[in-house]
Amino acid sequence: MSHIAFIALGSNLDDPQQHIRQGFIDLGALPQTHLSGQSRLYRSAPVGYAHQPDFINAVARIDTGFAPEALLDALLAIEARHGRQREFPNSPRTLDLDILLYDDCLLHSARLTIPHPRMGNRDFVLRPLHELAPNLLVPGLGPLSLLLNQCQSQQAFPLEASVS
Ligand code: ADP
Ligand code: MG
Repeated sequence: MSHIAFIALGSNLDDPQQHIRQGFIDLGALPQTHLSGQSRLYRSAPVGYAHQPDFINAVARIDTGFAPEALLDALLAIEARHGRQREFPNSPRTLDLDILLYDDCLLHSARLTIPHPRMGNRDFVLRPLHELAPNLLVPGLGPLSLLLNQCQSQQAFPLEASVS
């Protein structure tokens, strides 16, 4: 049984663009999983802890047989292979993989909240997500295009021009 999930990728350490590009490949190589969309790469200023390099961000769409918690485990394993360390909240990272959406699920457990709790006001998440799914309705939050228009956070900028 296949489910659609959107995954946010972020990196600001050790050649971030390379970590993001390899992150897409790693997602597509997961068992029972197909990489069905990848956004352009975006650059954004850090949030929370400002004394660190800019971030490179992107969003992937996957078709997957993993249940949500198993998918989280698979993402944490990919992060670990990229040398991810957790020194303090919002600290610099080689690769961060967050589950934004999983079908139209609303889920809240000790380890996992879906939709991702901070996605609604993050330009660096909403813009690449909008590239992949412009008509998306975010469960509990409403139309993605509306969230994007109302977003107050620092802007994210694409590294390459649009291909349309
Ligand atoms: P952050 O992504 O907020 O900077 P981490 O990557 O260190 O921080 O994630 C910390 C924890 O957040 C994860 O171990 C996971 O249990 C939890 N978490 C809750 N909801 C989600 C989600 N939707 N996607 C990824 N992790 C999540
Ligand atoms: Mg994370």
